[in-house]
Amino acid sequence: MQETGSPLSNSKSLPERREAVTDQQVLIVGGGHVGLSFALLLAHHGIASTLLEKNRYPTISPTDDRTRSHYLDSRNTALSRRTVQIYQEIGLWDELQSHACRIDSVQISEQGSFGRAQLNKVEEKVESFGQVIENAWLGRKLLLAAQQSPLITLIDNASVNAVAQQVDGVMLSFSNDDAAENEQQLQASVLVACDGRDSTVRQLLNIGTTTYDYQQTAIVGVVETDRPHEHVAIERFSPAGPLAVLPLTDPEGDGNDKYQHGYRRSVVWVCPTGEETKYLEDDAQFLQTLQQAFGQRAGTFVAAGRRGAYPLSRVLADKQVEGRCVIMGNAAHTLHPVAGQGFNLCMRDAHVLAQMMSAQVLKGEDIGNAQLLKRYEKARQTDQKRVIRFCDAVVHGFTHPNPAIKLARNMALLAFDKLPNIKPLVATYAMGLKS
Ligand SMILES: Cc1cc2nc3c(=O)[nH]c(=O)nc-3n(C[C@H](O)[C@H](O)[C@H](O)COP(=O)(O)OP(=O)(O)OC[C@H]3O[C@@H](n4cnc5c(N)ncnc54)[C@H](O)[C@@H]3O)c2cc1C
Repeated sequence: MQETGSPLSNSKSLPERREAVTDQQVLIVGGGHVGLSFALLLAHHGIASTLLEKNRYPTISPTDDRTRSHYLDSRNTALSRRTVQIYQEIGLWDELQSHACRIDSVQISEQGSFGRAQLNKVEEKVESFGQVIENAWLGRKLLLAAQQSPLITLIDNASVNAVAQQVDGVMLSFSNDDAAENEQQLQASVLVACDGRDSTVRQLLNIGTTTYDYQQTAIVGVVETDRPHEHVAIERFSPAGPLAVLPLTDPEGDGNDKYQHGYRRSVVWVCPTGEETKYLEDDAQFLQTLQQAFGQRAGTFVAAGRRGAYPLSRVLADKQVEGRCVIMGNAAHTLHPVAGQGFNLCMRDAHVLAQMMSAQVLKGEDIGNAQLLKRYEKARQTDQKRVIRFCDAVVHGFTHPNPAIKLARNMALLAFDKLPNIKPLVATYAMGLKS
């Protein structure tokens, strides 16, 4: 089923812009999913950007549709309804959705407890709660769109050496092994750092961070079950940590066709750091652990693909604006993946900043103006703080071993399932439709 514009969205895809509406330029450092998406959002508004990426990008042919080198070997991201709307707005969703699987309902429960809750799209009167997309496909389509946009200049294999703030712009020095002249400089009205959790730009600007190590590691992979997923996302809390099993597409359709041994699902399993090796190396033990944690909620786990491990920490930049520079994406806030909120929050930041810059261009004003950037930082605070608090509350609330707290959270899950007014509100926030 295709994700179409919802009544909550008045966003429409506009014709793609081929020419810049201003001479002002944006410099983006970091071409991960956030940096590329931000460049495409700017291009949609007719604002040109130059994007510097540390790694070398692969060569992608527009006609080559291969996505999976291994069908069981991919990371996946749960996109909220709002993120889907943003991609619709810039005309990318039609390309993305062939490898995205919608979420019709969300089940939340705890191993060894009676409390459970369920969000259902029919009850909440929504088309879906979001979509699970393969990271490889998302990255590939974003890169291809950026490569094809006349308003985006991509420089890969480039590392940033220095950032200098000027009265009317910002100057960046970088090294690029591909260029004859190794050390190069670029100037722009504004610089947006999307260079990830350990952001070099953030360090060059002397912006500190508040960091918290969860002492947990996420094991991520694709599994197969003997039952179709029926578009259900299952969030389960076990004594080892939170666990999510998400629906995935199969190569032919929407995930309800059998693949090799069963039906593909994406797994995020969080365990205490130090215990990851046994879950990474031994397929049989991993499948057995999942089975114990889940019972038959997802059916029988029959196959597991290669898994990756991600040590989890929360990293929050002490500020997100310094002069003509903005810190965005994981460089601004790296969160626990428990509720699948990190990338979705980044996309809302990117969307708001692109809109504010576009409005500034229409007024004929400076897009790197300090007041504008500070207004952006302030405008995003409520949404960011709410998501950060929510993720932390879920992680700490559900891993606390105290029996009284365990009872309280079971009661809370039961109450959540029964109280009529809470579910729509939580669903709205989870879908990223309220900020
Ligand atoms: C296990 C796990 C599961 C997750 N699941 C979800 C989910 O379901 N939903 C969700 O919303 N979020 C999810 N997230 C969060 C999401 O992955 C991140 O929010 C998102 O990837 C951040 O993207 P980014 O582009 O900001 O950073 P990154 O992906 O880290 O990209 C940074 C880019 O900058 C480049 N770079 C770094 N340094 C430099 C430099 N000096 N110069 C130039 N380039 C540089 C890097 O090469 C990279 O390309 C999950 C996270 C994890 C760990």
